[in-house]
Amino acid sequence: MRTFSAEKLESLISSMTLPVYAPVEEGNTVIYAPYEAGKKLRLDKVGTDKTPKEVLFPQWETLMHFRMEGKTIELTEEERAKEDYVLFGVRACDMQAIRVLDKVFLSDPVDTYYAARREHGIIVGLACDQPGKNCFCKNFDIDPAQPDTDLVLWPAGDTYYCEAYTDKGRALMDGWDTEEADENAVAEIKENIAKKYDALPFAHLNLTGFDGEHLMEKFESPQWKKLSMACLGCGTCTFSCPTCQCYDIRDYDTGHGIQRYRCWDSCMYSDFTLMAHGTNRPTQLEKYRQRFMHKLVYFPSRNEGMYSCVGCGRCIEKCPMNLNIVKVIKALGEGEKE
Ligand code: SF4
Ligand code: SF4
Repeated sequence: MRTFSAEKLESLISSMTLPVYAPVEEGNTVIYAPYEAGKKLRLDKVGTDKTPKEVLFPQWETLMHFRMEGKTIELTEEERAKEDYVLFGVRACDMQAIRVLDKVFLSDPVDTYYAARREHGIIVGLACDQPGKNCFCKNFDIDPAQPDTDLVLWPAGDTYYCEAYTDKGRALMDGWDTEEADENAVAEIKENIAKKYDALPFAHLNLTGFDGEHLMEKFESPQWKKLSMACLGCGTCTFSCPTCQCYDIRDYDTGHGIQRYRCWDSCMYSDFTLMAHGTNRPTQLEKYRQRFMHKLVYFPSRNEGMYSCVGCGRCIEKCPMNLNIVKVIKALGEGEKE
């Protein structure tokens, strides 16, 4: 365990020779972006407006260019990431969200664009000394006091404690100006985090029955009609979610050839996976049900119980119609009903 003064934090980040992505203020929002002089660091913000997902899986990226001349196609693939970088200040829920993305993008066939970024990233976690009012991560066995990252920081007033858990983390921390600290220095911080978390409104939800065994029972629940009635299909919940990973691939004629790119898509949109015959989910009820069944039933039933919700609370904060996954859990689960 090592420690350094909070006053040194910005100079410690600036001293790193690798590019650093960190939560910074951008207008009225906090997003993960390259940290550079003049940017305001916002390590205090739980539930950032954009998530660290965007560093690994950008909202929009070019995959390749091609040109056709007669029967010949000239194809140029976009280069994969080659340089190491630091992803700084990642909360426990957002790190678990990256593990969810790993299941999708690193399974066969591997998404080589994502894989290259994942391989080159060194992830510095940040314990949630002040969990947000909408947080419910522990329901998914995520400890807000212990992000599963290469290196973890624990804020403690005018001090930070830090510990590295992987070779990448140790190599990064070796370059930091820190001092030795007591191995048990963060025990009390962790206890305080647990107490604060326990007092939150959604701290303890009942997830009984959200598994492959009760799939049809959940799918056919009459609750979906009431739950989805107000949904606008705006997609805000999917774009602000750290685990949503649907994308579309399109071709754009630049006038000199074709640029093939991908961009985030949303299962809440009316034209999502639209085919010649139309769509398999014609009403908003079906789209809404798909999103939550995927997070709470389909994904865990195919991934050894791993939910694809991490309890970050962003959809609770952002939905313009006050719809969210906690309402679904309460309405369909065996716990308290709203
Ligand atoms: S649930 Fe809310 S945020 Fe999501 S699409 Fe519907 S209205 Fe938009
Ligand atoms: S569904 Fe909502 S609470 Fe769950 S990970 Fe996505 S945004 Fe966060």
